[in-house]
Amino acid sequence: MALDGRLLRRAMDRLEEDRRRRETHTAELRQRLYGLDPALAELDSRIQGAAASAMDLALRRGEDPVAAMEKLQEQSLQLQKERTRRIVGLGYPEHCIDDLPACGRCGDRGYVGLEPCECLLRLYREEQRRELSKLLDLNGERFSAFQLKYYDDQKDPDTGISPRQHMELVLLACRRYAETFDGKGSNLFLSGGPGLGKTFLSACIASVVSEQGWSVVYETAVNLCSRYEAVRFTQRGDPEEAEQDIRRYLQCDLLILDDLGMERDNGFTVSVIYEVINARLRSGKSTVISSNLSAEDISSRYNPQIASRLAGEYENLKFYGRDIRKLKKEE
Ligand SMILES: [Zn+2]
Repeated sequence: MALDGRLLRRAMDRLEEDRRRRETHTAELRQRLYGLDPALAELDSRIQGAAASAMDLALRRGEDPVAAMEKLQEQSLQLQKERTRRIVGLGYPEHCIDDLPACGRCGDRGYVGLEPCECLLRLYREEQRRELSKLLDLNGERFSAFQLKYYDDQKDPDTGISPRQHMELVLLACRRYAETFDGKGSNLFLSGGPGLGKTFLSACIASVVSEQGWSVVYETAVNLCSRYEAVRFTQRGDPEEAEQDIRRYLQCDLLILDDLGMERDNGFTVSVIYEVINARLRSGKSTVISSNLSAEDISSRYNPQIASRLAGEYENLKFYGRDIRKLKKEE
């Protein structure tokens, strides 16, 4: 799983912030309990003293510390018992003024060895969802909300199936793609005229795949090319930030590249699109491309290499029907 460094840092900051907030809260509660029962403050300082003496003993050499250590432990246990009795007596839970970690697995460090802990990954998924939500309506756009009623039910005399039947298969294929996503480099090419639900289904795929914890980046072809331009022609925007974006395009588990063909048509953008498609294929990463262009348009607009990559490595799902945005306005 390729985690996005920028989002991981944000998740880490939040983990740290949560820990600090809990410590502050515990410290305030501790002071309140000391106020209610001053003997508690005294007990805590004696427990700390006993722990320091135990440390001293453990480090001392030359004499037999075992008996002294046992005595200290017994003393500490008595102090703890008295402390618990007083806290519970005030009506509070036993450990309410102890600094215990919220995550027992990683002790709130976010990592177990070199692996990110589940508590950190949960925050990471939230950050990713927030990021994707800036561009896509992840809550409204669910597979179950896809409305087949907007697609014509009349059978095409040539193919024998209606646009609605056809779109039912497209919906099924997108759903299966998202639900069985395994990060092993399977790709979709969604093609068809505007307003047929390509971006809608892309958002559904983004939502389901990102919920499973994979890193997902959504970008339009226009924006993606402009980030490459910012690096190539440094006077346009912040090149360092653009470089970070490019790393995300190339490294994420799933890139959703929307509206291919809407970017300016020149040698530079063609080479950028080729570079992205090719680099992701080489590294075995998955990509979903949507476009108003058909597979045939692609071969005339782009170079033969791009056309052959799309034909050979992408499952082509063709969208049929009439512009849904227009149909909705007519309702
Ligand atoms: Zn953890």
